[in-house]
Amino acid sequence: MRFFRLLLLPLVVMGILSGCAVNKADIHGFNVISIEQEKELGAKFAVEIEKQYPVYNDPEAQRYVDKLGRRLLTGAREVSFDYVFKVVKDDSVNAFAIPGGRLYVHTGLLKAAQSETEVAAVMAHEIGHAVARHGTRQMTQQYGYSLVLSLVLGQNPNMLAQLAGELFGKAGMLSYSRDFENQADFLGVETMAKTGYNPEGMVSFFQKLEAMSQRSPSTFTQFFSSHPLTSERIQRVQAEIRTLPPRTYPFIDNTEFQRVKARLK
Ligand SMILES: [Zn+2]
Repeated sequence: MRFFRLLLLPLVVMGILSGCAVNKADIHGFNVISIEQEKELGAKFAVEIEKQYPVYNDPEAQRYVDKLGRRLLTGAREVSFDYVFKVVKDDSVNAFAIPGGRLYVHTGLLKAAQSETEVAAVMAHEIGHAVARHGTRQMTQQYGYSLVLSLVLGQNPNMLAQLAGELFGKAGMLSYSRDFENQADFLGVETMAKTGYNPEGMVSFFQKLEAMSQRSPSTFTQFFSSHPLTSERIQRVQAEIRTLPPRTYPFIDNTEFQRVKARLK
């Protein structure tokens, strides 16, 4: 009986933890997938993703996004992965993170943004998902540990290809819980502020995207299905920004951004 109780306790705790609201500042939520396993899973997913999204063939654009990503990482709470930042050729306005610290920025996002700060806002949000390991947490909740583990171990290549497409690829996006989205916004605001990007840029870019989406819904379908821009969400980001100590942000030189943007045309 005692043994039974001991056996049950972790299950009960697991249940409580996974059903519990996410504390936005706590990036170490319950995750049965280890860092090493997540790295392996990310590498496997990357192969599939890059079959669906051709990596954009422009070394200058790649260098630029990589540099921006690395600057943002200096303001992340934790860097557990060897981060990879890539631009993929897709004109819809989006960016996404797959497990293991791999971020993809669509050419469409670079085209829609008017400044480096606007690109930084979306990338900082995605880095937030990666840092708090939302991908593996959400996948484990949705599909169960044994399935995710079988993907890590390479036991299920067909399922891996299918899920890569379903969750992260063209077919659709992994839909994170609202708690995870809020946490990624919170971490994104913090990362922007720490790295010298005015987090107000996140609010203004989201508002601008919302307005642009009225004019050209097809370009935005994907972004808004994974990142619904409710007024409640925007207000929450604004409230988050107000908790930061008042400061002036350094001037951001947009020369390189504009050069990369010009090459995309
Ligand atoms: Zn998100």
